[in-house]
Amino acid sequence: MKKILFVTSEAHPLIKTGGLADVCGSLPKALAELSNDIKLIIPNYQALKTTGDIRFLCTIRVDNRNVNILETHMPDSHVVVWLVDYPVYYNYPGNPYVDEQGVPWPINAERFALFCRVAVEAAMDRVHQHWKPDIVHCNDWQTGMVPAFLTLEQERPSTVFTIHNMAYQGLFPSSTAAALNIPGRLWNPDGLEFHEMLSFIKGGLIFADYITTVSPTYALEIQTPEFGYGLEGLLDHRKEFLGGIINGIDTDQWNPEKDPYIAQRYTAATLNKKPANKSELQKRLGLPANDLVPLFGLIGRLVEQKGIDLILECLPELITMDLQFVLLGSGDKDFEKQLQKMAQLYPEKIAINIGYDEALAHLIEAGADIFLMPSRFEPCGLNQMYSQRYGTIPIVRKTGGLADTVTDALPETLARHTASGIVFSEASAGSLLEAIKRTLFLYSYPDIWKRMQINAMSKDFSWQRSAEQYMALYESLKGEFKE
Ligand code: ADP
Repeated sequence: MKKILFVTSEAHPLIKTGGLADVCGSLPKALAELSNDIKLIIPNYQALKTTGDIRFLCTIRVDNRNVNILETHMPDSHVVVWLVDYPVYYNYPGNPYVDEQGVPWPINAERFALFCRVAVEAAMDRVHQHWKPDIVHCNDWQTGMVPAFLTLEQERPSTVFTIHNMAYQGLFPSSTAAALNIPGRLWNPDGLEFHEMLSFIKGGLIFADYITTVSPTYALEIQTPEFGYGLEGLLDHRKEFLGGIINGIDTDQWNPEKDPYIAQRYTAATLNKKPANKSELQKRLGLPANDLVPLFGLIGRLVEQKGIDLILECLPELITMDLQFVLLGSGDKDFEKQLQKMAQLYPEKIAINIGYDEALAHLIEAGADIFLMPSRFEPCGLNQMYSQRYGTIPIVRKTGGLADTVTDALPETLARHTASGIVFSEASAGSLLEAIKRTLFLYSYPDIWKRMQINAMSKDFSWQRSAEQYMALYESLKGEFKE
């Protein structure tokens, strides 16, 4: 049994902007089920959705500010949540990181540096709860200062830093370092300085006792210039303390047998019920009702990472084929406009929903036949796992967690009953189109298709195995920082 302080800037269902929240919502629960004593610490954003009681724990003085710590629970769980309450920084409406135009909040460095300092106070039991963790588990750049600040402490807990996406590094002008009172010992090129900028993520990469990323393939990819964004050398240097642990998914929330958001529940044994969800999806999005037409789905942030430009390049050819395409997402305004224009031109084939809609996301996973995920890079990715669990065959690019979780349909994998999707290599519209054509060919053979759906639905994506790997990692740490 370990005492674990889990530090994160988002956790579903409290607040979510992407996969980070799914992981930070479900991994602590899985660790608690393995009898660990775990507390999650998160800023008290205005948009945070808590359900239970909130009680005042204490007020601490940090960096010349009075910060309250409040205590609540994760909804439907025993996981204790500590809320870092400093209204001037966190009582903003909406998204934790950006305003409605997608522009980062101007004081993000101050907001997350304070959050890190408070997490350090909690880690050292200076919040007077008679609770000192063995492990402090930090996630992404918003928490990167925690391992750095902790190296300045005596008898500190061990630290783990998990990279959910290397593309987001928390870089700020170097003048920010002085404004944030970063100690001189941390402010140098072997510390938080990165090409004359202040880098939050470097705090985690340099000072954590162990670094993990969310898939084994991504752990290797980030040691190369293509995916390391200038930090590949540092990661290569620390590779002895770097590993990949694939994310699980919340198998209660994403379960076609029990999903309250879908029109008709089903299992691998009752796949004949799945098409009722396709009909509902077509009806809801104004597409012609048609059982036989292959329906493609896509859910996600509309950014280059997700290969949205590749989809746009393919669309002119796709609309010449007999298929339907449903997309739910938001992001780059230019992508949004181009996609909406295509939907206006071809309303009988394309339905584009700009926005964030949890319920519709579930219906798309259940109603689509095929899920598109042509990401240029993908640390782990969750939707390809949700899709497989819903018998919706994913088309993915061979990168990061997509490569680790989808088995390509090849003669041998079809024969061995392991084929669960379509995998293509090159990040180009041509390769994606080939993959789509290969998928349509397989779709035209109902027996093969059904076998693939059953293969996909039989895979184990639960947190159990991954949580055990994190436990083994925690056990191996001795609290000593090794460079
Ligand atoms: P990332 O973290 O890079 O955004 P992931 O695939 O790891 O990508 O996780 C994305 C999560 O956010 C999934 O749970 C996905 O269903 C959800 N999601 C993304 N965009 C939307 C949206 N527009 N509406 C509903 N859910 C969304």
